[in-house]
Amino acid sequence: MKHPDRPMDERLAHMVRLLKDADAGTLDALECPNYHQHSVSVWFTHPGEGIYRTWFICTECSFQRRAQNVGVPPHYSEDRVSERLENYDESLLAKAHFKRPKDKA
Ligand SMILES: [Zn+2]
Repeated sequence: MKHPDRPMDERLAHMVRLLKDADAGTLDALECPNYHQHSVSVWFTHPGEGIYRTWFICTECSFQRRAQNVGVPPHYSEDRVSERLENYDESLLAKAHFKRPKDKA
C-alpha cells in the first residue's frame, strides 16, 4: 500500500534523489530538504577495508544523512573524506563488531 503524501515517503524520495545526484557526480549544491536551499555537500568515509559510507551534510542547517555503500562510491575521492565523519563511522563499526576476536600482532 502506498501513501505518497506521508512525510516519511517524502524523506525517502528526497534521499533517493540525493543518492542519484551523488552517483551522477554532483557533490555540492544539492537540495536541502529543510529549507530547499542548495546547500548540501557530499562527503565520504572509508572506516574499514572494503567499507564505504556516503554522507550528505547541509552547510546551512543541521541536516545530515548517511548512506551505506556497497563497494566504492562512484565519485569517491580522498579529497572528499571527512576525518570527523570517518572517526564516527569507525566508532560505530567498533561497536557493531565488539564480538570480533582481537587481531593478534
Ligand atoms: Zn539545510
